[in-house]
Amino acid sequence: MTCERGTQKAHFIICRECFWCASVFSTPSVDRCLACGSTLVEHMPIFSDETYTFDCGRQGTILRFSTLT
Ligand SMILES: [Zn+2]
Repeated sequence: MTCERGTQKAHFIICRECFWCASVFSTPSVDRCLACGSTLVEHMPIFSDETYTFDCGRQGTILRFSTLT
């Protein structure tokens, strides 16, 4: 995944209510979940040398961030 396009940086967005998530390549302007409408939306910057995976299961959502080497 490319994390920067021009001067824009990537952000990982996740809803704390329904766990809807997305990656955006601009300043986060999403303040409401596009799936359930909740305002409990978290934004996390993704740096140019990072990648992430996520798993959704019985234990909840697990995010794993790592650096590219
Ligand atoms: Zn939601």
